Amino acid sequence: MDTDVLIVGAGPTGLMLANQLTRRGARPQIIDRHAGPARETRALGVQARTLEIYEHLGIVDRAIELGKPATGANMWAQGRWMAHVPLSDAGYGTTPYPYILILGQDDNERIMGEKLHALGMQVQWNTELIGLEQQADGVAVTLKQPDGSRRTITAAWVAGCDGARSSVRELNGITFEGAPYEHVFFVADTEVTGSMVPDQVNVYLWRKGFHLFFPMRGKDHWRLVGILPESLRGRKDVDFDAVVPSLRAEAGAGLTFKKCSWFSTYRIHHRRAVRFRDRRCFLLGDAAHIHSPVGAQGMNTGLQDAYNLAWKLALVTQGRADPALLDSYEAERLPVARRLLETTDRGFRLVVSDSWLAGVFRTQILARIAAFAMRRKRIQHFAFGTISQTGIRYRSSPLSQTADSFAEDAPRAGDRFPWAMLKLEADGTVEDLFKKLDDTRFNLLVIGQSSPTPEELGLRDLLRIHQLPADPGNDAELERLHIPRLSFYLLRPDGHVGLCGARLDGAEARRYMAERLHMRT
Ligand SMILES: Cc1cc2nc3c(=O)[nH]c(=O)nc-3n(C[C@H](O)[C@H](O)[C@H](O)COP(=O)(O)OP(=O)(O)OC[C@H]3O[C@@H](n4cnc5c(N)ncnc54)[C@H](O)[C@@H]3O)c2cc1C
Repeated sequence: MDTDVLIVGAGPTGLMLANQLTRRGARPQIIDRHAGPARETRALGVQARTLEIYEHLGIVDRAIELGKPATGANMWAQGRWMAHVPLSDAGYGTTPYPYILILGQDDNERIMGEKLHALGMQVQWNTELIGLEQQADGVAVTLKQPDGSRRTITAAWVAGCDGARSSVRELNGITFEGAPYEHVFFVADTEVTGSMVPDQVNVYLWRKGFHLFFPMRGKDHWRLVGILPESLRGRKDVDFDAVVPSLRAEAGAGLTFKKCSWFSTYRIHHRRAVRFRDRRCFLLGDAAHIHSPVGAQGMNTGLQDAYNLAWKLALVTQGRADPALLDSYEAERLPVARRLLETTDRGFRLVVSDSWLAGVFRTQILARIAAFAMRRKRIQHFAFGTISQTGIRYRSSPLSQTADSFAEDAPRAGDRFPWAMLKLEADGTVEDLFKKLDDTRFNLLVIGQSSPTPEELGLRDLLRIHQLPADPGNDAELERLHIPRLSFYLLRPDGHVGLCGARLDGAEARRYMAERLHMRT
């Protein structure tokens, strides 16, 4: 076998997977048909859940240093300010990162590429996958090399992170169901002054569409995204100057453009692969799902796919778990993609619909509803959980087991374990729990009872145990998070709860690991 995992594509999804597999001790190879990293910014909203993963990877400080946190959004309709949607308030207490970090896809790829390099791995550029044959114990893959010659290698597993036109998907005959939207988007990197509220996302709604202004690093630097006015659709020669009149008409005559350093138009599709796996090949990121950019979810969803698959693949390639564990990848991530496509599709149709009624709704009602709703704590919390991806959970997964009669309102198996500030040592200080969790291992939180040893649970070096000391501060934090004072939580390496309940029974936990996680002890 030439490699444990061949990662096809070095976009954000492939780079995340390569990093996560390598730091977990697997031996992947990563190829890309391009000559080097992409220069275009494309995606630019980095969600809180991604930043939590970046923290474990050791790149969050660099990302924050290069990016710009957007703490809220302002909604404008027909030139008038309508409403403010506070993101930070909504995410307060949910995550250490209660905002959207505005950081271009190129910077995200660069940071992940540098980390991969530091871990001792390089992307093999100018190397294209052109054929594959699934065999009983591996995949024979034909590669076109930089000099044009062909080479066949064998990989135990293939991860298709090769974007919307995925060869891995096509060579496996997996249908990509969906359709293109009729609207054409434009995107521009500009230096501009105007009515925009600084450091926040500004949404200009108009009768026939919308313009989004994202604050970027640097003075007066804004990324603009919008749909092309009807009169420009179908024209091949559209440049930035052509869209300026519609921008001025909707976002205010006071806009002064000093520079446009990048302008592009693109059509978008909403599509999903009918399966995310065919035997030894997996699909992740845009290879598995594409949708409208409403909500800045695309790149983040690909990164979460990679984080979900990596720990499972690492355990399987190292012989610590049975390949049956890998079935849970599609079981967990396909429903996430299905929901995402439904919600982005609904949201997108609402903001682009050409109908008169939709135009009235957009300009007269939408902003008011958003502002009103976001004053409600529960709605704030739900909206932040959805957009930031901290609310994603896998409660119906085969890996999720909540003990019978466990408190209904407590975090349950499949949920991302909530962010908490806790005292983990009786004589220690209050600490950020996420910083203490080792995401290359399982973590067991034991509350209000004594804990077994990792050996007793059969996970040995794969488990970290955190026994919470009795402490009034801990009690208050547990109460805030609805965590019972007598409970235990076995967290998977990706921070989602695998097994939880009131009293920890070692035999039950061992059975869970053998039967649900397919661990080989
Ligand atoms: C103009 C534009 C604007 C966007 N704006 C946003 C946004 O604001 N927010 C958002 O969340 N998303 C946005 N997106 C979507 C976002 O860019 C994608 O979701 C993201 O790039 C997906 O990453 P990926 O790694 O899965 O795929 P990609 O980034 O497409 O990477 C796939 C890689 O695979 C390589 N590859 C393909 N085939 C092969 C092969 N046969 N052999 C070897 N290598 C191969 C390609 O060269 C490429 O490098 C935008 C997309 C576009 C085009």
